[in-house]
Amino acid sequence: MDISYQTVKNILYNTKSREWFGTDYTMNLYRGCNLGCIYCDSRSDCYRIDNFDVVQAKKHSIQLLERELKRKKNGVIGFGSMSDPYNHLEKQTLITKEALTMIERYQFGAVLSTKSNMILRDIDILKKVNQHASLLVGFSITTTDDPLCKKIERNAPSASQRFEAMKVLSEQGIYTGTIMMPVIPFITSDKDNIMSIIQKTYASGGKFIYPWFALSLRDSQRHYFYQWLEKIFPGLKNTYQNTYKNNYLCYPRNHEILQDLFITECEKLGIKYKMGDIIASYQSKYDAGQLDLF
Ligand code: SF4
Repeated sequence: MDISYQTVKNILYNTKSREWFGTDYTMNLYRGCNLGCIYCDSRSDCYRIDNFDVVQAKKHSIQLLERELKRKKNGVIGFGSMSDPYNHLEKQTLITKEALTMIERYQFGAVLSTKSNMILRDIDILKKVNQHASLLVGFSITTTDDPLCKKIERNAPSASQRFEAMKVLSEQGIYTGTIMMPVIPFITSDKDNIMSIIQKTYASGGKFIYPWFALSLRDSQRHYFYQWLEKIFPGLKNTYQNTYKNNYLCYPRNHEILQDLFITECEKLGIKYKMGDIIASYQSKYDAGQLDLF
């Protein structure tokens, strides 16, 4: 695969709030993503990413990162809000790996969200980060049905592979769990799927599931989603159009019931699902370490 680069001036941005897993900074090392999720919100017009499936690496990103780590206050860096940090180009560029190495050197923390078991390649670096700073790895999982996963997350490793990776990380003491976003009406919004995600997260040592019981659809992203619906679920596009018209937020009809079942089951198993609780939980070890210094 040829590597295409995008020139950027900065790589690390302050977050407006620490709402997303307590991250202080956000960083996208890539532009576009090649994991092929049919519902991906990053295809929306507002992000202005042409040829979204053709990934570009950010040029000189590691040099830029080091410059910024030297002058910024220590904190937690979120990877991959607009592209998976372990998309297929990462096999060649290794920039996520190099960025983690740099983050470890400067003793920052990290939050990684991914659909790929390629993250296990970097387990030794993750373990080092975990020794001195807050670290969370969230596996993005929408279904436990691997054949369905292949249809809607076309180029991503299977859900089973993600759960296996979660188990390995958990066994190494890394705080990990599931980001269950979106819950896709008529496709992944059945009770059995939600219960199965909870059970498999629990069995894999996952400590949290952060859910969103809805799907967002807008402009060209909706168009792309509908094109794929016509190919893989003939007739479902009409159901969507009749149900949701031009709505941006599309809630499964049973979303309140699903949410109640989800909460009951997570509480039974001790799985955290509220953002505040997840942040407090994964950052507690580091906070305790900081307090020990005084
Ligand atoms: S992995 Fe994330 S960024 Fe990549 S296509 Fe899927 S939803 Fe979009």
